[in-house]
Amino acid sequence: MSFADRLIIKPGSKVNLAKHDPDETCGFDKDEAESRLDAHRKRLFELQELLYAENKHSLLVVLQAMDTGGKDGVIRHVMTGMNPIGVQITSFKKPTPEELDHDFLWRIHKAVPRIGEVGVFNRSHYEDVLVVRVHELVPRKVWSDRYEQINQFEELLSCNGVTIVKFFLHISKNEQLERLKARLEDPSKHWKFSHGDLDERKLWNDYQRAYQDAISKCSTEHAPWFIIPANRKWFRNLAVAEVLVETLEGLKMRHPKPAFDVAKVVLEE
Ligand code: ATP
Ligand code: MG
Repeated sequence: MSFADRLIIKPGSKVNLAKHDPDETCGFDKDEAESRLDAHRKRLFELQELLYAENKHSLLVVLQAMDTGGKDGVIRHVMTGMNPIGVQITSFKKPTPEELDHDFLWRIHKAVPRIGEVGVFNRSHYEDVLVVRVHELVPRKVWSDRYEQINQFEELLSCNGVTIVKFFLHISKNEQLERLKARLEDPSKHWKFSHGDLDERKLWNDYQRAYQDAISKCSTEHAPWFIIPANRKWFRNLAVAEVLVETLEGLKMRHPKPAFDVAKVVLEE
């Protein structure tokens, strides 16, 4: 069974996060995982070039996690395998007043990668059924209608050449505590510490429920969710890289045939 098969959430299944072990390593040890990740980074570089050359598909990678879950780490350790010229990373923060004056997908749609390119969402439209639900920023009816709206939006993208993969980096509450402590103990990490993260931590169970619903309702054939065991950073990075390589290889991309006769090209000395 491939990695992707082990970590994918089958459409229609009901997720219980308590049954997904954040310490899982699928039999790998750290050294093995790191050398495999190295090979995957090289392969990702080639696949991304092919994506660009073929110019038929784009890839959208959605990253979601609790605070300290490792979204930045995945971008640093996995996405750096790709050529920055074809990768666009977008971080979604609290919406601006202008963004709030539009539907919740307005800012998202604008950031979707064009054909041939890779887009990475550091947080995404899922915040609109996560933080927004947990903090009751809009009435229940409004956020509960969004799951279906998200599915339709993602289907529209998928029908227009966008391959979508969505990762939930799953850490335990205890692992988050350790990471927050590390941020406080290391002056070079103080900038990463936010008091807001402590308030959100108090709402851990509400967030887990909101994630369970989002993943259960929105893991579809055209835009699957993957739950990535993320307590061990080396395993998290490997698992994301594995799924990306498998996904891109699954597109069966080919270098385009040249529109000219190569044999007739004369290069002067
Ligand atoms: P991160 O925590 O993602 O690593 P950061 O620490 O640089 O990023 P923050 O300001 O802490 O930046 O994170 C972005 C904040 O914006 C989060 O608290 C997130 O919940 C919030 N946010 C994102 N999208 C929305 C939304 N649609 N509605 C309300 N809040 C949102
Ligand atoms: Mg933060």
